[in-house]
Amino acid sequence: HADTAMYQAKAAGRGNYKFFESHMLRTNQRRLETETALRRALDRDEFSLRFQPQINIHSGQLIGCEALVRWHHPQLGDVSPGLFIPMAEEMGLIGSIGDWVLISACQQAAKMQQELGQPLQVAVNISPQQFFRNDIISSINRALAMSGFPASQLEVEITEGVLLENSRETVQLLHKIRSLGVSLAVDDFGTGYSSLSYLTRFPIDKLKIDQSFVRDITTDASDAAVASAIIAMAHSLKLAVVAEGVETLEQYEFLSQRQCDVAQGFYFGRPVTSTEFVDSAQQFQTQPALGDARRASLD
Ligand code: C2E
Ligand code: MG
Ligand code: MG
Ligand code: MG
Repeated sequence: HADTAMYQAKAAGRGNYKFFESHMLRTNQRRLETETALRRALDRDEFSLRFQPQINIHSGQLIGCEALVRWHHPQLGDVSPGLFIPMAEEMGLIGSIGDWVLISACQQAAKMQQELGQPLQVAVNISPQQFFRNDIISSINRALAMSGFPASQLEVEITEGVLLENSRETVQLLHKIRSLGVSLAVDDFGTGYSSLSYLTRFPIDKLKIDQSFVRDITTDASDAAVASAIIAMAHSLKLAVVAEGVETLEQYEFLSQRQCDVAQGFYFGRPVTSTEFVDSAQQFQTQPALGDARRASLD
């Protein structure tokens, strides 16, 4: 990749080569700065969580949320998890960051459901590195013990990458997690390369249809077909289905017609702080309509 850029720059002439060279130097420097900052971020308390609502499509009720990590650095500003999570994985930092996320998510969810007077589920992302390198069972147990949050309301999101490691160890770990009472969801389903047979071999509860299939669900016939097929297949395997990235009423109605179980996306709410989550959930309780757009169209 970098070589190609370099080659093209060389071919384009000396001046361009210099430009690319200094550009890459700056990019490398920025990366180094970010890595150094990331190493200190936990100690400096720079991480926080946002919570995005999940809605039961059959009942229209709020059932809980997904916890999503955020990093704010005083100089670098907000760094997206799409950038720093892979970095933390490479640097071997994902175990400690992931533990912080697990504990904080359970603690904040416990507080939120107390304030709301309604049970809430919380889904937490676990990266493959965190899953295999660290003692994930102790991490989960510690988070539950420290927060008093019920295991039955915690959901762990893994990616197909975890299931690619088709070892006895993986199966045992997944069974152990489930024996704690915690449920298991496969995130970004449909984007990996793993064979579908894993769905019957591993003890999974839920599939999260990746947002890339949901985006054009109402306009692209093949995306509609893929999403419908995932829902039908999941249900015949007794798995529940969550649709990610639901942004419009039309997408929601499509999913509802196909008996998809849970919806998550900007249509219902963006990831927000726990305080904001409780406020908007209280509004949702008094007006359990279908979301902002539907409410607006009914007014
Ligand atoms: P994910 O787990 O698939 O999370 C869903 C992502 O989609 C989130 O991005 C969320 O903000 C975004 N999203 C939700 N609804 C919509 C929508 O309607 N439209 C669009 N366009 N996007 C929507 P975010 O927060 O930037 O996180 C990106 C990824 O970073 C996550 O994808 C997850 O893989 C990873 N990540 C986030 N937090 C954690 C964490 O605590 N631990 C680990 N290991 N990974 C995390
Ligand atoms: Mg997720
Ligand atoms: Mg996802
Ligand atoms: Mg993702």
